[in-house]
Amino acid sequence: MDDQKLSKINLDISENDKLILSSIDKFLEKDVKPYVKEFESEDKYPQDIADKMAELGLFGATISEDYGGLGLSAVTYSKIVENVSSVWMSVSGIFNSHLIMCAAVEKFGTDEMKNFYLPKFATGELRGGIALTEPDCGTDLQSIKTKATKDNTNYKINGTKTWITNSVQGDVLAVLVKTNSEISPPHKGMSLLLVHKDQGYVPRKLKKLGYRGIDTGEVQFKDVEIPLENLIGTEEGRGLQQILSGLELGRINVAARGVGLAKAALDDSIEYSKTRKTFGKPISNHQSIQIKLAEMATRLEASRLLTEQAAIAYDSGRRSDLQAGMAKLYATETALFNSTEAMRIHGGFGYSPEYNIERYYRDAPLLAIGEGTNELQKIIIAKQLVE
Ligand SMILES: Cc1cc2nc3c(=O)[nH]c(=O)nc-3n(C[C@H](O)[C@H](O)[C@H](O)COP(=O)(O)OP(=O)(O)OC[C@H]3O[C@@H](n4cnc5c(N)ncnc54)[C@H](O)[C@@H]3O)c2cc1C
Repeated sequence: MDDQKLSKINLDISENDKLILSSIDKFLEKDVKPYVKEFESEDKYPQDIADKMAELGLFGATISEDYGGLGLSAVTYSKIVENVSSVWMSVSGIFNSHLIMCAAVEKFGTDEMKNFYLPKFATGELRGGIALTEPDCGTDLQSIKTKATKDNTNYKINGTKTWITNSVQGDVLAVLVKTNSEISPPHKGMSLLLVHKDQGYVPRKLKKLGYRGIDTGEVQFKDVEIPLENLIGTEEGRGLQQILSGLELGRINVAARGVGLAKAALDDSIEYSKTRKTFGKPISNHQSIQIKLAEMATRLEASRLLTEQAAIAYDSGRRSDLQAGMAKLYATETALFNSTEAMRIHGGFGYSPEYNIERYYRDAPLLAIGEGTNELQKIIIAKQLVE
């Protein structure tokens, strides 16, 4: 869709950030687009792409410049996520989950932890993600069973995490554990620990419908010992709050992924509808196809505006959880809608791996599950309305 045809929110993007966005667009065109099919179909980790992202500074995108990061605003960062996701959504997960871990360290870590880890996180020398979900619970995180017991020098961790992105290829995870299982409410006994793969956790790659290429795994912790200094923060019992405090930005990012995917589905559909002919004319001349395109474009535009507004609110320091929740809900449902409509517009070819449509259709559902399911999102939005 020609973006020039639409009026725009005036986004406050500096000249320097515009240069960053333009170099990422070049990288997507040259180093990602030609390789998506190969890596996606074989579910192969795109190591070269990850290494080039490190060169571009993406692993430090939201880490402050004091620690060697790019210190980008939510507005610029969400534009990057949107553009990356319009080419291949999996690539955005390689740095997104990593940056959620980094944000927890930067916000709550001790100076010693920040000085040691953040420069290495920013260059991508150490890469990772967050390990919250367990086989028996994802939404209801207060029910986790993974435990860390402590002696004078170490925590010893036992338990299983699942669906953990970057757990196989990454080096380190922020792991949500129970350091006290007796206390009520349970979140007061939950802590966040930074654990290195070489300290002994064992990841196993899982097969997935979509979001392929990137490694998502089950992770076993069996008597894994880490030093007490790897607790994020200075006191136990803050882990759930620490991880939930990153959710506003996390939701804006998932919304941006939805916008990128919805845009790709629409753009491919417009192109296809102009060339595919039935009954002597391009299918774009049939009203039923026009109605689909109009609805896809309108929902896409609404999703983008919601996402941009949420990012602007976040950058201004205003409370933005309601806007971020609405953007996440609407943009991810739009990604699902647009990918399904794109499939219909492409007819039988929408079902073939020759076209990108079937990938959008497989990738989109994850957006409705991750970073708080959309069912939960509605409950959270409603709670704030009646508060
Ligand atoms: C590809 C992929 C990557 C992932 N990456 C990560 C990662 O890096 N780190 C990580 O920790 N996790 C990750 N996850 C896990 C993800 O965050 C969880 O799947 C998600 O939080 C949902 O949890 P669940 O699967 O246990 O579903 P459940 O919590 O069991 O929910 C099942 C259904 O019940 C609904 N439901 C639950 N509670 C309520 C309620 N109170 N009211 C109404 N409806 C409710 C949910 O909306 C959902 O529809 C990933 C998942 C996938 C598929």
